[in-house]
Amino acid sequence: MSSEQERLDQALEETLVEIKQLNKKLEDKADYGLGKGGPTIYEWEFNLALRQSLEAKAKSIRAALRKMQEGSYGVCEVCGQEIDAERLAVLPHTTHCIKCAQARR
Ligand SMILES: [Zn+2]
Repeated sequence: MSSEQERLDQALEETLVEIKQLNKKLEDKADYGLGKGGPTIYEWEFNLALRQSLEAKAKSIRAALRKMQEGSYGVCEVCGQEIDAERLAVLPHTTHCIKCAQARR
């Protein structure tokens, strides 16, 4: 198993644990005084947004793991160039090189 794969496996596991914890918090929405306009609604919405971004992250990590099995890991989806190793070290699940990631913004 390559170290990148281990890192991704670990990142996926951590992300899934975070999602689970958030799901628990979101289930307790009765305690947040939903519909009463209290400040806690913001916390609930914040957790909801956080869960969405974590789910997106989990999805991209899974995609990266699949690419690793296919042997196309670390290749930009847009331009087909190899993604910079330093970028992959920071964002192991990225599917875009730095140029294409900036162009997408
Ligand atoms: Zn690219």
